[in-house]
Amino acid sequence: MVSESGGDRGCPKCGHTETDVGEISTTGGGLSKMFDIQTNSFKVVSCVNCGYSELYRDTTSGSSDIVDVFLG
Ligand SMILES: [Zn+2]
Repeated sequence: MVSESGGDRGCPKCGHTETDVGEISTTGGGLSKMFDIQTNSFKVVSCVNCGYSELYRDTTSGSSDIVDVFLG
């Protein structure tokens, strides 16, 4: 569904408004085993049209917020 109003929102590259949100985790590897389990979690918001993606460090806020950031 394409909304006529608020047409300024969308992918920074192509203006598409459908996104895919994924999640990746990175562990520090090597030395991190000496410390606590250190995992960095990131959310990936991708435009389903052109594939443009942005990475956001995981926060306590819901994924809908980062989609808002991505779409502007
Ligand atoms: Zn796009």
